[in-house]
Amino acid sequence: MLDHQKYKRVLLKISGEALSSLTPGQHQGINQGMLNKVANDIRNVVNLGIDVCIVIGGGNIYRGVSGSKSHGIDRATSDHMGMLATVINALALQNAIEHEGMLCRVMTAIPMQAIGEFYIRRRAIRHMEKGRVVIFAAGTGNPFFTTDTAAALRALEMGCDLLLKATKVDGVYDKDPKIYPDAIHYDRLSYSNLLSQKLEVMDATAVALVQEHNLPLAVFSIYENDSFLKVLEGTAKHTLVTE
Ligand code: UDP
Repeated sequence: MLDHQKYKRVLLKISGEALSSLTPGQHQGINQGMLNKVANDIRNVVNLGIDVCIVIGGGNIYRGVSGSKSHGIDRATSDHMGMLATVINALALQNAIEHEGMLCRVMTAIPMQAIGEFYIRRRAIRHMEKGRVVIFAAGTGNPFFTTDTAAALRALEMGCDLLLKATKVDGVYDKDPKIYPDAIHYDRLSYSNLLSQKLEVMDATAVALVQEHNLPLAVFSIYENDSFLKVLEGTAKHTLVTE
């Protein structure tokens, strides 16, 4: 069980799809209600004095692989388009976070001076020390990567105690719980089991990175009310992945 008093700084990874509706099913677009819900959840964690940084995906707008397959766009260009999608989501979330009364900075892995600050590790840490929420946009800045890997990378760079991955289900199961009602939920799991069972919770590069540096990973559902805080308190269902 988690205990929020143990955590000083955490990174929350939210997929683009999670922003598209308040309930599962919708895959595209940005839902204002969901943005507000996420911003509210973040505020309740920030209020505890925990530093919060965020990596946001872009799958609700554009995915490099699918764009490349369906439109014949070369993969690196398509991935650049995907990274731009994450910037759109980051700006929308920044706006919602500021409406909740928090200070928030968007830092982009690709320079976009007029829109956000270019990512500099020490500057990002300074923002959090001043109580600002930091959103990391444009993934790692490199094609052929994912925002899961960006989340693992930034969490390590920021010295986070925990990486939280908000998904559509409340943790990791042995098979898809939406298809198999008898699917078994794991309260705890090792990195190796997550990798070997190919459970598709997070891409293998990201898991390998957290495993190598022994960074705990919590997988939980974005849809439950106040789930971010509840997971840190250990009162919401989730899976904790550790060594
Ligand atoms: N992307 C990339 N490099 C990165 C992160 C993301 O090229 O470091 C591109 C990639 O095309 C990806 C898209 O951005 O499909 C959106 O990110 P992702 O699919 O990880 O978003 P999510 O599934 O979390 O919504």
